[in-house]
Amino acid sequence: MDFDLTEEQKMLKDTVRKFSEKEILPLTEEMDREEKFIEDLWEKAKPLGFLGMGVPTEYGGMLTDYLSFGLMGEELGKVDAGVATVYGAHGLLCANNIARNGADEQKKKYLPLLASGEKKGCMGLTEPGAGSDATSIRTRAKKQGNEYILNGTKTFISNAPIADIALIYATVDPDLGTGGLCTFIVEKDFPGYQRGRKLSKMGLRSSPTGEIVLEDCHVPEENLLGGIEGKGLKQMFSGLDIERFMWSSLAIGIAQAAFDYALKYSKERQQFGQSIFNFEMIQDKLATMLVEIETSRLLTYKGLTYWDQGKFREARMLAAQAKFYACEMATRVTSEAVHILGGYGYMKEFPVERYMRDAKVFPIGAGTTEVQKLIIAHYLR
Ligand SMILES: Cc1cc2nc3c(=O)[nH]c(=O)nc-3n(C[C@H](O)[C@H](O)[C@H](O)COP(=O)(O)OP(=O)(O)OC[C@H]3O[C@@H](n4cnc5c(N)ncnc54)[C@H](O)[C@@H]3O)c2cc1C
Repeated sequence: MDFDLTEEQKMLKDTVRKFSEKEILPLTEEMDREEKFIEDLWEKAKPLGFLGMGVPTEYGGMLTDYLSFGLMGEELGKVDAGVATVYGAHGLLCANNIARNGADEQKKKYLPLLASGEKKGCMGLTEPGAGSDATSIRTRAKKQGNEYILNGTKTFISNAPIADIALIYATVDPDLGTGGLCTFIVEKDFPGYQRGRKLSKMGLRSSPTGEIVLEDCHVPEENLLGGIEGKGLKQMFSGLDIERFMWSSLAIGIAQAAFDYALKYSKERQQFGQSIFNFEMIQDKLATMLVEIETSRLLTYKGLTYWDQGKFREARMLAAQAKFYACEMATRVTSEAVHILGGYGYMKEFPVERYMRDAKVFPIGAGTTEVQKLIIAHYLR
């Protein structure tokens, strides 16, 4: 067991931290207030290779190991989990899934465009009637000549308002159940593809979220991911495992930022003639917060290490555990940080109120806490 990061991982962490503090931090307040992603942050991420983190080097990306994703997510999450979601939905949910499941021609065509950031990606699984029960999706793909015709609506899709390329889950035959599920690489300019409504959110407001509407959308047959019908379930599940580690990493980052802020504040704030840090009930909160953050980190990094070692069964179990624990932890820790700041914590001029709003989504996205517990129970059978 080795808890040390490699020199490359340390360098990556350092680069992401410097980028986040220099480029993202000055814009977080504006992006939260205006509910928008500032495109400049896309352009500035390009030369650093962040947008190609999910793509192997042979296709122009920077993929080395999956633990590095966790490190990157944590550093970005400390500053702005919404911006981290923009990069993650593109690099992990879209590009990385194509890298793992795509046919050679698909990888050659799409991965360099995504890795360089020339095109932005997203992943559309959730539908108005299919959330936790993701396998009940109704988006239909009908084979017609050398094309598939897609009809359906996707909702809550991160990056939908800005994406050029969407990975879309659909069924070729509902009677086949999960055996009919397929994934398609769909370009925004394909006839019948529409960016639907942009949705307004409580938190994570720098991450654009929206709908995708497919009305007789013409998708060439060569855009069926992996080239074989019926592989959608496997592609979906492996993508969700990776996504769960991504959310856990962001949750750790945001909780760490909230903890750091609350700790510093507690040492400066004077009440009853001394800093509030001296009160044991404040120390109790801080100690609990710290241990919960570190526990989440251990679960997440252990799972990612197993993934890197090819121990996928163990990694999958840990993905559910890390997602459940780290995401619930982030809501507790950010709420406690607000509490430690008292009335100031509730004011918009202090960042902890944004951390708390942002954190609330973590136990919901990529499978709710209840769904993670069901997965864990499944492994206990
Ligand atoms: C900000 C944000 C970004 C997102 N980004 C994406 C994206 O990029 N791509 C994408 O495809 N999706 C995305 N999603 C969708 C997300 O994955 C779903 O919201 C999530 O899976 C929950 O589905 P639902 O919202 O339909 O809730 P429901 O499934 O309707 O759940 C409602 C409640 O019922 C509970 N519940 C459901 N089933 C059970 C059960 N069997 N036992 C116990 N309790 C249960 C749930 O835990 C929850 O508390 C995003 C969501 C958000 C909020």
